[in-house]
Amino acid sequence: MFSVSKQVAIEEGAITLNKQPVAIFPISFLGDYIINIKGDLNEGRRLYESVKKGMIEFSVSLGEEYQLTSRIFLDRWIKYCGFAGWGTVSYKIVEEGNCGILSIAELPLHKYLRDKGVKVPSDPLFEGFIAGSASGTFKTDIDVIETECICSGRDICVYYWGPKEYLKEKFPDRYEKLFGETQ
Ligand SMILES: [Zn+2]
Repeated sequence: MFSVSKQVAIEEGAITLNKQPVAIFPISFLGDYIINIKGDLNEGRRLYESVKKGMIEFSVSLGEEYQLTSRIFLDRWIKYCGFAGWGTVSYKIVEEGNCGILSIAELPLHKYLRDKGVKVPSDPLFEGFIAGSASGTFKTDIDVIETECICSGRDICVYYWGPKEYLKEKFPDRYEKLFGETQ
């Protein structure tokens, strides 16, 4: 039986998850940064691409080390999220292939943003995080759009993941804003 806690090592001054260094810090660090770049689409894109790239590298090495199938890998991500305090996560594959919906209840970062007055989904960090994880999991280029958020009064945060063409067809306006050529 897979157990996340067995993959965590805590030593004096260092914590590792699957041999990768991790750290615990207040949600407000990330939340205040997201608030600071809110409305700056270029900075948002840079953050998205940078986090996505980092998570691809992290997840590809993880998947190779454990020889994970994409389905088992997805289930493992859900456990990582719960363990790391990133909310209660569930997912649904919406089409055969590489598209799906991820739902997160009680995402602490977005609760923080909501409590600070953020009213619309505007977190390129978490979108990039999920995009990189999914790209590494499915071994293909996957992007992500958050379509519902507790910041805009919903019960949960909802993310669609899939190839760019899929997202463009399904959410043309949001796609153009996040990934389009013109801004
Ligand atoms: Zn949200």
